Amino acid sequence: MSIQQRLAKLNPRQQEAVRYIDGPCLVLAGAGSGKTSVITTKIAYLVQVCGMSARRIAAVTFTNKAAREMKERVGQMLKGKEGHGLTVSTFHTLGLNIIRGELKALGYKPGFSLFDPEDAKALLRDLMNKDAQVDAEQINAVQHQISEWKNDLVLPGQALSHAVDEDEQYAARVYEAYVRHLKAYNAVDFDDLILLPVVLLKDNPEVLARWRRKIHYMLVDEYQDTNVSQYLLVKLLMEERKTFTVVGDDDQSIYAWRGARPENLVTLGEDFPRLNVVKLEQNYRSTGTILRAANTLIANNPHVYDKTLWSEMGQGAPIRVVVNRHEEAEAERVASEILTRRIKERAEWRDFAVLYRGNFQARLLELKLQHYQIPYKLSGGTSFFSRNEIKDAMAYLRLLINPADDNAFLRIVNVPRREIGPGTLEKLANYATERGASLFDACHELGLEQQLPARAVERLGRFTHFIDGVRRRMDEGDSLAAIRGMLHEMDYEAWLYQNASAPTIAERRMANVWTLIDQLEKSMKRDPEEIEAEDSAETDDVEAAISRLVLRDILEQQAEEDDTDKVQLLTMHASKGLEFPHVYLMGLEEELLPHRNAIEAGTVEEERRLAYVGITRARQTLTLTLARQRKAFGELMDCTPSRFLDELPPDDLEWVGRADKEDPDKKQARGQDAIAGLRSLLG
Ligand code: ATP
Ligand code: MG
Repeated sequence: MSIQQRLAKLNPRQQEAVRYIDGPCLVLAGAGSGKTSVITTKIAYLVQVCGMSARRIAAVTFTNKAAREMKERVGQMLKGKEGHGLTVSTFHTLGLNIIRGELKALGYKPGFSLFDPEDAKALLRDLMNKDAQVDAEQINAVQHQISEWKNDLVLPGQALSHAVDEDEQYAARVYEAYVRHLKAYNAVDFDDLILLPVVLLKDNPEVLARWRRKIHYMLVDEYQDTNVSQYLLVKLLMEERKTFTVVGDDDQSIYAWRGARPENLVTLGEDFPRLNVVKLEQNYRSTGTILRAANTLIANNPHVYDKTLWSEMGQGAPIRVVVNRHEEAEAERVASEILTRRIKERAEWRDFAVLYRGNFQARLLELKLQHYQIPYKLSGGTSFFSRNEIKDAMAYLRLLINPADDNAFLRIVNVPRREIGPGTLEKLANYATERGASLFDACHELGLEQQLPARAVERLGRFTHFIDGVRRRMDEGDSLAAIRGMLHEMDYEAWLYQNASAPTIAERRMANVWTLIDQLEKSMKRDPEEIEAEDSAETDDVEAAISRLVLRDILEQQAEEDDTDKVQLLTMHASKGLEFPHVYLMGLEEELLPHRNAIEAGTVEEERRLAYVGITRARQTLTLTLARQRKAFGELMDCTPSRFLDELPPDDLEWVGRADKEDPDKKQARGQDAIAGLRSLLG
């Protein structure tokens, strides 16, 4: 399809938004009205009609999933070389690319590490424990506060003056030390991916000019979720050319808790007075019934401008509200319905999505789906490689094959505890930088004794000696035995027991570690047939096997998406921008949706927007489920149906199981029978 044909398919307002390229443009419109479609078409328009090089265009959004989806849509329009160099990414990836390109200006060394929130938490724990024993809650609070400052562009030097009470003053002091340590470790955290580029572009005119030459047009999806730093990043890059398109929906702002500022929509108009605002009103996604539910619900929130969304998709089926006895019955119901409905509706597994408020709600559902052998894809849960114990073990393996892996060194030098504190590591890192050595090698250098007390040098020496010993044994013969021996010798298991809230958790974690080592063994003894010719010499090489594992780790993190036919399980937050023919929304209960914290904090409006996001993912059918009882703190508690159910148009709802006349057990048993029958029919 040519770009002209594509344009012709859009409605007049969408076309206007695509064609307007001389100044700043804001598309403000409700869910499913084609905002993302405007962005993707506009990228093709800029390249194919305006003759702009794809290299000069950057399109950003919030989640990996959304970025991938956008890439795919653009990929269908731009052929061959046309798309080369185009940036379609998350805000954070754009920031990462800027950091990578500007390491020198930022004062970082090549090979810097990205600390994930767990890494960052570990560092904070060490820093905070220096003064007094602190608990997990205090660490979380400080981490949250620091993140908030970073998102609001409050630097360590300014935090103290922003602090309103003693807690915040304390957090400000930790913030200062935290940033210093990150720098000494040559590391950045997640929020730095935006903050560092913004500060750099603000303070360094040369760098700013370079990036302004590089990016000529920016497009931002889900603009309502930008925080202060992200907004400034866009503003800094685009202030001169004023050529950008941002699209958003204030009713879908669901990241206030991460510093999002929906008022950035208003700020934009102030900062760019020539802003062209386009509103879209036709929804192309959902049936009339689903849309009416969404509109009616969100009307309970205050609005600056009213949006009236309409659809030509027909009324469609009523919205089903399924009441279940308890959470297990709820999970059972969703799984068994998907099994039968796939046949009835002639649907594929991937046509179904189950959305929920919190990841924990997926656990029971997973069990039920497994029980019925329904393939599913869980987004955002803890994958094997992101477990702490696996990351520890991987760090040991990485350090064994590459002593220069500073990130691996930092992760495990004090795991299990070796009394090597952040102060020691900071000095070691400074010394290593000075000497141009890796942290591991710096431990061996004689000069270190001038920098650190003898006790600290001895502890570091003991650690490197230990690792050297394992490496020697690996070289001498049975590498796997050496690795297993290492885990025993340092008693990693005892460490897990010390740190787990229950022995069963520690047990499971240790089992995970052994699974990893088994994987390593398998990878070493792989059938030579499987290995490509050039690789085959390395069949028994532990280093090659470990690098394969590391690569798999990275791929696993990237391969969130696979195209195979699976039911999608994801949180409402993660579902933004996506659409599915059949949507289940679980747990429509007070304290779950709206979440208890939001009720207590008086932020129910954000929860309502979250429900709005969830509802508007559905194209053909929407099913809401709830449980009458749910386990909390080990006890079955009664649940109250969500207030949001009362806010939906009653005539559009079809209640199932509300006035349970029939014995629920019998009913459930009958359901099971039907499913068993169906299964045998299908062979
Ligand atoms: P959200 O707010 O949920 O992110 P959105 O405004 O970005 O939604 P899109 O995802 O771009 O909406 O579009 C929703 C659906 O409507 C998509 O399936 C898209 O292909 C379709 N669509 C968009 N515009 C048109 C159009 N003019 N004609 C037909 N279908 C359209
Ligand atoms: Mg969208």
